[in-house]
Amino acid sequence: MTVRVRIAPSPTGNLHIGTARTAVFNWLFARHHGGDFILRVEDTDRERSRPEYTQNILDGLKWLGLSWDEEPVAQSDRLSLYQEKVKELLDKGFAYRSYETSAELDAMRDAQKARGEAPRYDNRHRKLTPEQEAAFIAEGRQPVIRFKIENDREISWNDLVRGTVTWKGRDLGGDMVIARAASATEIGQPLYNFVVVVDDIDMGMTHIIRGEDHIGNTPKQILLYEALGAKLPEFGHTPLILNPQGQKLSKRDGVTSISDFQKMGYLPEAIANYMTLLGWSPPEGMNEIFTLAEAAEHFSFDRVNKAGQNLIGTS
Ligand code: GLU
Repeated sequence: MTVRVRIAPSPTGNLHIGTARTAVFNWLFARHHGGDFILRVEDTDRERSRPEYTQNILDGLKWLGLSWDEEPVAQSDRLSLYQEKVKELLDKGFAYRSYETSAELDAMRDAQKARGEAPRYDNRHRKLTPEQEAAFIAEGRQPVIRFKIENDREISWNDLVRGTVTWKGRDLGGDMVIARAASATEIGQPLYNFVVVVDDIDMGMTHIIRGEDHIGNTPKQILLYEALGAKLPEFGHTPLILNPQGQKLSKRDGVTSISDFQKMGYLPEAIANYMTLLGWSPPEGMNEIFTLAEAAEHFSFDRVNKAGQNLIGTS
């Protein structure tokens, strides 16, 4: 099996240090195994995606020395594939149209909160009769498309970094929206968890390595792999880079993007070395100052830490 991994940045901002570090780990893993490192631009959020951010991300990855294989893929070019796959799930009964108004959903969540329950979709439109659907359509309601998530399912995977991770279906928030509202004869804009799975299957990804902020998406994605009849890849969730106070890095921390470090005069080799060490321990005897190519020779997930790593103050 040839290892195929990807970095899948959303061009809604400059190349973030966390995304860059995820790219570094994917690159090291691919190069260690003589596999492919693929770049996919996740620009499904048309409102927030900008070509100048895509350029900043590509430039930042190149500056760090992360070369990718094949032409980069853009999700905005692949809408018809996503729509075809949504249709497949509808036809097979894994997904359905759901007609709630936002006021109805708000009332449902308020009632759940009042009962001290966590807010979740209660699957109320899962079994509408054709007459009920026709009545909603006649009212002018625009349905979203939801993917069924069974409460009593248990989903487990052996994470490359964290070992066995298990989730219960009932903790995943109810049947999940996979396509935004559109008329009942159309398929609206497909959403993140769905398009990621369709792409990762279509692009033959063998390992999904990403930040641990995505860990709650993985059980939903595993259910989508099953419904689409695809083999599961391996998953690895890497620790986040935190600010000097140990919190998730945010805009308020000032320096968060690779181009900021570049402007401050840091050398790419130094940043690449530092980012790798924030999360990976080189094997005994290896010098702590290394090139990415040297790190690739020795890279493995058993030496990736589970806990988040604090960035040393830069201001
Ligand atoms: N577009 C997602 C992000 O930027 C990618 C997540 C993934 O790797 O699946 O966080």
